[in-house]
Amino acid sequence: MRIILIGPPGVGKGTQSSLLARTLKIPHISTGDLFRWHIANSSTLGKAVKAHIDAGELVPDSITELIVAEGLSRDDAAAGFILDGFPRTHDQARVLDAILETRGDKVDHVIEFTLDNADLASRLLARGRSDDTDDVIRRRLDVYVQERAAILGHYGPIVTELDASGSVEEIGERLLSALGARILQSLGVRSARSGHTVGG
Ligand code: ADP
Repeated sequence: MRIILIGPPGVGKGTQSSLLARTLKIPHISTGDLFRWHIANSSTLGKAVKAHIDAGELVPDSITELIVAEGLSRDDAAAGFILDGFPRTHDQARVLDAILETRGDKVDHVIEFTLDNADLASRLLARGRSDDTDDVIRRRLDVYVQERAAILGHYGPIVTELDASGSVEEIGERLLSALGARILQSLGVRSARSGHTVGG
């Protein structure tokens, strides 16, 4: 299963991606984590992306696409993956589709995490990452509005909205049932509750 999680900064995608990856036994590929790893290790790539991240701006597509292509080429990503923080632009979405097409695959599900601004602010405050300062958060929220439009425009019919309020466990359960419902839908099962099926 190939899943994309999108949502504003602080919404908890990273936490849920890790849990879901463990449940589904597929890798969790987070561009933010990959970039932070490179920055922590002072690699050439880390040096190239640091200023963008510190300012709350997107890293240029060319760099981001390279790092994702590398992540997706891992053997354990052949059967599926969870992408967290990618794609964030229309160009990135097109590149992802092209990579998947060469192996006869496509994105199966896009989950959009939603949460009100007050809850987002308190989660970001609790996390306290170095790019979680007021100005940078505000910029990342603005950038997210554009990102969201690009992703919804590209993947519209396969996007499912997920209420990201509540505890980690509650959100995790909601995420699994949202994915379950989508899988049943794609198999032509009309309603999980009624048990009535349509199609094949
Ligand atoms: P958040 O979702 O809280 O913004 P991430 O860890 O996903 O945090 O990303 C942190 C930063 O890494 C972003 O603000 C951006 O600078 C950079 N980044 C991550 N993913 C991408 C991407 N797909 N394209 C461009 N920049 C990215």
